[in-house]
Amino acid sequence: MSAPTAGGPTSGAPADGPGEATRALQERFQAALMPNYGVPPVAIARGEGARVWDADGREYLDLIGGIAVSALGHGHPALVTAVADQAASLAHTSNLFLHEREVELAERLIALLGDPSARVFLANSGTEANEAALKLARKAAGPDRPVLVAAENGFHGRTLGALAVTGKESIRAPFGPYGTEVRFVPHGDAGALRAAVDGGVAAVIVEPAQGEAGVVPAPDGHLAEVRAICDEAGAAFILDEIQSGIGRTGHWFAHQAEGVRPDILTLAKGLGGGLPIGACVGFGRFATAFAKGDHGSTFGGNPVAAAAALAVLDTVDKEGLLDNAARTGAALADGIRATGHPLVAGVRGSGLWLAVTLTADRAADVQARAAAHGFLVNAVAPDAVRLAPPLTLTTGQAAAFTGALPAILDEVTP
Ligand SMILES: *Cc1c(COP(=O)(O)O)cnc(C)c1O
Repeated sequence: MSAPTAGGPTSGAPADGPGEATRALQERFQAALMPNYGVPPVAIARGEGARVWDADGREYLDLIGGIAVSALGHGHPALVTAVADQAASLAHTSNLFLHEREVELAERLIALLGDPSARVFLANSGTEANEAALKLARKAAGPDRPVLVAAENGFHGRTLGALAVTGKESIRAPFGPYGTEVRFVPHGDAGALRAAVDGGVAAVIVEPAQGEAGVVPAPDGHLAEVRAICDEAGAAFILDEIQSGIGRTGHWFAHQAEGVRPDILTLAKGLGGGLPIGACVGFGRFATAFAKGDHGSTFGGNPVAAAAALAVLDTVDKEGLLDNAARTGAALADGIRATGHPLVAGVRGSGLWLAVTLTADRAADVQARAAAHGFLVNAVAPDAVRLAPPLTLTTGQAAAFTGALPAILDEVTP
């Protein structure tokens, strides 16, 4: 076990294979949990800031942050205090009663979005935020406009509604049919989108950059094109910022950098900093399209999750984490490019939301060798390694990774 360091893990020889405690947990995992996740290679026992330790005491720099969730890193005192205090005073109300935290959170989101017309529905996850968005769009459109339009390779969640608009064939196809007409168009292709959006379309749902496809941005100006196409056809523009939102790109929300406002915005992942929460925000006529009784969630906007989200928003603001995401993200991307390694094709993304693209399909091996060197990264595609670290990542920690990267890549180069 290595001692905590400021700049990243200290390691001797890279570890090969899981340690004994990890192996024992993996066996119990396999015997008790469904096989849908396979058996994860690392068992995380605890974390502090951007560092985590596995069940065998090995230290890692966490460069994936629970998939863009642990925005403040692990164990941030603001989050810990907010959650503990809230749990001690009031953990749950159901939606039969209101509580102040949910009101504060909705007010904060509306203020950050800069549009007083907005109204918020709180859910527990990303897929639920999208379910709310799809129902909201359908309700506003009425029964004569039932069609949905989405992007190929997009990802919107695993429940049946969100899954129906998920453009990853391997994830969607086994669970159809969906009873919903969905037209898929290539990501970022405005011509194809215009051709697909007619008077029968309730909503277009897209991501600013496709996270699960490997942090693939749309072309510059694409969100403005989506906005115009939706306006021309009278369709709702649903923007899924579940992965891109809450400071990930160096802006509170990716769409703010483009000067475009969707009709419906969905958030989750980083919003709760590790506590489960999602949000669906409606603007203009979509703010009030749900009538009493149209939608609900027993846990959604739960006081503990709402308190966590408020702590995240406060801390991003107080600690200047938007600037940090932009600056440290740029340093990280520059450092990766500067390796000049033959296996590195390039770097996609912005802020602390990047994909290292490879010249060969070796991402799984890169993920495994990076872990052996003490870095948690994600093989998001056969040729792309995703980085979505805590927004608190320091330039020293970024440099620790880029310093180790050539050796990691050498180990997987045939
Ligand atoms: C993760 C994600 C979802 C689904 O969120 P869950 O909380 O896993 O349901 C939806 N859309 C995007 C863009 C995501 O990244």
